[in-house]
Amino acid sequence: MIQLIRGFKDILPGEVERWQQIEKIAASRFEDFGFKEIRIPMMERTELFARSIGEDTDIVEKEMYTFPDRKGDLITLRPEATASVVRSYVQHKMFAKDPVQKFYTIGPMFRRERPQKGRYRQFYQINVEVFGVASPLIDVQLIFMLVTLFTRLAVADLKAHINSLGCPACRPNYRAALSKFLAAISNKLCSDCRRRRRRNPLRVLDCKVPSCREVLAEAPSIIDYLCDYCQEDFAKVQEFLKKLQIPFLVDKRLVRGLDYYTRTTFEIQTGSLGAQSAVAGGGRYDGLVKMLGGPDLPATGFAIGLDRLAEVAEIRHSEFIRMPDLFVAALGEQSQDKAFEWICQFGRQGLVAEMDFEDRSLKSQMKRADKIGATHVLIVGDQELQEGAVILRNMLTKEQTLIPIKEVVDRVKTYIKREAQ
Ligand code: AMP
Repeated sequence: MIQLIRGFKDILPGEVERWQQIEKIAASRFEDFGFKEIRIPMMERTELFARSIGEDTDIVEKEMYTFPDRKGDLITLRPEATASVVRSYVQHKMFAKDPVQKFYTIGPMFRRERPQKGRYRQFYQINVEVFGVASPLIDVQLIFMLVTLFTRLAVADLKAHINSLGCPACRPNYRAALSKFLAAISNKLCSDCRRRRRRNPLRVLDCKVPSCREVLAEAPSIIDYLCDYCQEDFAKVQEFLKKLQIPFLVDKRLVRGLDYYTRTTFEIQTGSLGAQSAVAGGGRYDGLVKMLGGPDLPATGFAIGLDRLAEVAEIRHSEFIRMPDLFVAALGEQSQDKAFEWICQFGRQGLVAEMDFEDRSLKSQMKRADKIGATHVLIVGDQELQEGAVILRNMLTKEQTLIPIKEVVDRVKTYIKREAQ
C-alpha cells in the first residue's frame, strides 16, 4: 500500500467540516474589518523567499522544498504567504490606485521541518496583510481581530505576547549590545548560531534549539534600546490593547531576526496546545515592500496556524456537521425511480437527501436512515404511488404526516424548514 509522505496528512470528512467552519467564520470576520481575499500561487521563484525571508534562516537554509523545473529554473513550494502577497502588491502596482490595501488569504504552506504533533510539512495558514498604514493602531486592530476571532471559535486560555523590534535608527545599538553578549557565550551556542552570530546576531534569538534558548534567556532586551519614536509607538500599542481589554504580555524573547521587520511583533498563544503553543504570529515589516522592488511603504500582518487552530477551537460539532435532512425509503422499481428524481430535486432545493440504491427491505432501509442520522424518512412503495400520497416520518418524534405525491418536493421542504425554525 502506498502511504502518504511523512509530515503530510489527510483531512477527512468529519474533521474537514470543522476547518470549513473556521475558514468561513474567519473570512467573514476579516471582511467585517474591510479585508479582501487574495489568492496567490503555491510556487514562486526560490529567489523571492531567499531574499524576503533571509538567507540565513532555518526556513531558507534547511526547510524549503526547492527544485529545478524542467528548464532548470529554481522554484520553491511556498513556506509562507507574506512574500507572495508583497510580490503581488508590487507586481500589479496596487499601491498606485491606493497604497492602503488589506488582504487575507487561506492555503497550504510547505516546510521540511521535523514532524511532530502540531508541526507538519504541509500545514495551512490564514494570512492577513495590511499595506500603507504606518500607525501602530492598525497593529492593535490586527491583534484585536485575532483575539476576538479566537474567542468566537471558543479557543481557551488565550494570551497575546507582544514585543517591539525597534527601527533602523535604534536597532544598531541593540545589535552591538547583543553581539557583545553573544561573543561572551558563544561556546554554549549551537553551530548554526555561532555562524549566525557574526552575520546577523538577531537571528540567533530565533533559534529553536533548547540549549540556545536557555542561554539566551539572559540576553539584553531590545525594549531597553528603543529610540523615542519607537518607545512612543510601543506605548501606544499597549495603551490601546488595554483600552480594548485584550490581555497581553510584553515578551522580550519574541523576535523576528530580519532587518525589514520593525516595531510591533506579536504572537497569540494558548495553553491548550502544549509545546507548540503559538496559534498565530505576526508583526510589522515596513522594509519589505521596498526590498521587493516597490515604493517605501509600511506593512504589517499575521499568520494563523490553521492546523493548530482546528485542534483547539471548541466550536461544537452540531454547529457545523450537516446531517441528512431526509432519507427516501423506496420499495420496488417504480418507487426507486421516483425516489431518485426526488432526491435530485431535494438537493437542488438545499435539502440533503439520501436513498438506498439497492432496493433492500424497508427494515434495512430504516436502519440505514438511522445510521446516517437522517432526521426524516419519506416512505414510498407501490401502494403509496397508487394512492397518490407518501408518508413523511420524523425520526425523532416518530410523528408521521401524509404528503401528496404531486407536491412532494415543495411540501416536504416547507415541512422540514418549518420544523427547523
Ligand atoms: P510563522 O509563519 O512561522 O510565523 O508561523 C505562523 C503560525 O503558523 C504559527 O504560529 C503556527 O501556528 C503555524 N505554523 C508554523 N509552522 C508550522 C508547521 N510546521 N506546522 C503547523 N503549523 C505551523
